[in-house]
Amino acid sequence: METEVVNTNELYKVDPVFGQQSFDNHEQIVFCNDKDTGLKAIIGIHNTVLGPALGGTRMWQYTSEWEALNDVLRLSRGMTFKSAITGLNLGGGKAVIIGDAKTQKTPELMKRFGEFVHSLSGKYITAEDIGMNTEDMDLVRSVTPYVTGISETLGGAGNPSPITAYGVFMGMKAAAKYAFGTDVLEDRVVYVQGIGHVGEVLVEHLTNEGAKVHIADINQERLEEVRDKYGATIYEGGNIYAEEMDIYAPCALGATINDQTISQLKAKVVAGAANNQLAEEQKHGLELRKKGIVYAPDFLINAGGIINVYAELENYGRQEIMSKTENIYNTTLEILKNAEKNDVTTHQAAFNMANRRIEERKEKNKQ
Ligand code: NAD
Repeated sequence: METEVVNTNELYKVDPVFGQQSFDNHEQIVFCNDKDTGLKAIIGIHNTVLGPALGGTRMWQYTSEWEALNDVLRLSRGMTFKSAITGLNLGGGKAVIIGDAKTQKTPELMKRFGEFVHSLSGKYITAEDIGMNTEDMDLVRSVTPYVTGISETLGGAGNPSPITAYGVFMGMKAAAKYAFGTDVLEDRVVYVQGIGHVGEVLVEHLTNEGAKVHIADINQERLEEVRDKYGATIYEGGNIYAEEMDIYAPCALGATINDQTISQLKAKVVAGAANNQLAEEQKHGLELRKKGIVYAPDFLINAGGIINVYAELENYGRQEIMSKTENIYNTTLEILKNAEKNDVTTHQAAFNMANRRIEERKEKNKQ
């Protein structure tokens, strides 16, 4: 009988962790397994120079462990730069739980996950992300203090989405100021793609200011609800990217600025809540720049949520949350000017500013 010869060189071509595409000198990656509850999770700690690594936990039915690993590596890295540019004393981390949040999430599983978080002694602090809610964080809180996004009755800061929306609105106004010479959005044509928790509140701010708001979503019921509440126009067409508009606000999925959409884009400003809007940071950042489209970096303008959970750690109140979020306006304007001055993309300028803060702290810590 012939046995199949397995070419181990092929199997080992890509190093399992440090050789991953999204690996970027992460400090620590923790694989968590619990047979009794079925928990399979990965905690990614990207960088803790500025403080403990804070970032949400995502529960998702990944098609493979590679996909889960790459997601946690990519997301935790993003958190490092988001917190750094926002001026928070936090590092970047994120966790993923492999599984279906609708059918596989149990209180026992959440508590076991909390115990793994606790075992890191505060180096990683968790929060909500996709597939998680406040009740889940309350369960985690029952076994560890290293969690944010808990119920207000337990000392939490409450729903972060309205704060995220306010930050996006501030970033959008700054981008408008840069592109049009005024940050008044009255009569500006704005397309909001995705009217979920963040998108809806953004629509509210925009309509209050008199912008001409068009809304797109895959959920028809939501569309009608938001139209009736704010008088926005439902987008009925099939290709939002090719529409004439002043501002495109992606508030649903990432990677909508890509090879297919960028050539069609007629907007003069891109400013929205979605994470990772550029399919390829460098390439698409540069193409937007060449087309004269002002891009407000996503990780900068959608930082309201993290400002909100940071309040739980630092014990500051609503007023400070709002003033820190409002400051996104100034930072965005500074970044847009810096990018022009240094002839780099706005994404790169934001990244450089965040990195500078981390490097400065690193030097200071050595002293
Ligand atoms: P959500 O799930 O409440 O809303 C997303 C909306 O997008 C839903 O209404 C959904 O139907 C719609 N949608 C999905 N696919 C779509 C498509 N192809 N076209 C149009 N609409 C589509 O999410 P959210 O909390 O409002 O967050 C929106 C985005 O902002 C996400 O990318 C999220 O990662 C990011 N973000 C959110 C926060 C926060 O505080 N919630 C913070 C930072 C970043």
